[in-house]
Amino acid sequence: MLNLSYRKAAASILMAALLLASGCTTNTQDSGSEPVSATGFMLDTVITVTLYDGLSNDTLDGALGVVSKYEQLLSKTIEGSDVWNINHARGKPTVVNEDTANVINTALKYSELCGGAFDITIGPASNLWDFKSSTPKVPDADELAAAISHVDYTKVQVEGSTVTLLDPEAEIDLGAIAKGYIADKVVEYLASRGVSSAIVNLGGNVYAMGSKGGNDWTVGLQDPFKRRETPIAAVKLKNKSVVTSGIYERFFKTEDGTFYHHILDPKTGCSVSNGLASVTIISDKSIDGDALTTSCFVLGLEEGMKLVESLEGVEAIFIDDNEQAFMTDGIGGENGIPYLTTDDLG
Ligand code: ADP
Ligand code: MG
Repeated sequence: MLNLSYRKAAASILMAALLLASGCTTNTQDSGSEPVSATGFMLDTVITVTLYDGLSNDTLDGALGVVSKYEQLLSKTIEGSDVWNINHARGKPTVVNEDTANVINTALKYSELCGGAFDITIGPASNLWDFKSSTPKVPDADELAAAISHVDYTKVQVEGSTVTLLDPEAEIDLGAIAKGYIADKVVEYLASRGVSSAIVNLGGNVYAMGSKGGNDWTVGLQDPFKRRETPIAAVKLKNKSVVTSGIYERFFKTEDGTFYHHILDPKTGCSVSNGLASVTIISDKSIDGDALTTSCFVLGLEEGMKLVESLEGVEAIFIDDNEQAFMTDGIGGENGIPYLTTDDLG
């Protein structure tokens, strides 16, 4: 395993190479049929599905339908969704769809793995923040303290398809894991329709399905400090999920210049401030990537890296406030794929 100081050096080289590469657009289309894509606004974000084979508008509509179906179950704001029902049951058992129970069980597994850094009962705290407001406010300290007293994933009980919040004031928020689960479901659906080459992008939660005409996909990683669609680097891979959580997704700055963003420390209910700017996870299943990006972000570089390295088939790229990148060993060459590249930045 390469140590972090080596990784720092590697990152500097990466940044230098990136400067050289800036201005070149080398993404190319496959020869043959043009890809087709559909875009919608769901899950509070922009959803795009692009097919590179099995081109069919019905399949695209079906894929967006899959997103909508799961949003109806997993959203905390849609009245009558499973999550809404759990949150409004005042501690009574709620019967939910099997998918909802699956997502919650996976979330609880990650909470255990990271000692509560990831916690879907963040609801009472996340409700106090509005990152979309034109006049965003920092919640009152007392309110936040009261909210976090109800953040405790061990109070979520799942028995088969019945979910009970043992603390009636607790509230589930699947914002850090639902997109990953749904991305996996869209990929399953596309496979069932005979598609073997597609990009599923749920607001930056990307699944690069199959290959691009036998070649690797190139997935750009957002530069946390630049405007949207500005990559800091890219990964080349086949049939993998690439998920990033970062300070740039939803944030605001107060008049005194303090920066707040939407990844919260369950211990404080406040934005995590630990020197990290983003965490990217590459994995086979997007649900794992989604849960792990948030988990690792909250854990911080050292603990997050340890967690990822303890897991099979998961690679990570952490970018800190100084734009330095820290990567797991599987990235950067030895195994070939996935690897970080600066050659194909568009
Ligand atoms: P994105 O929504 O940009 O993909 P994340 O996957 O990191 O980013 O999810 C952030 C969302 O998850 C927040 O908006 C909030 O709803 C919820 N959340 C924030 N902090 C935590 C946490 N520590 N554990 C679980 N969920 C969280
Ligand atoms: Mg996440």
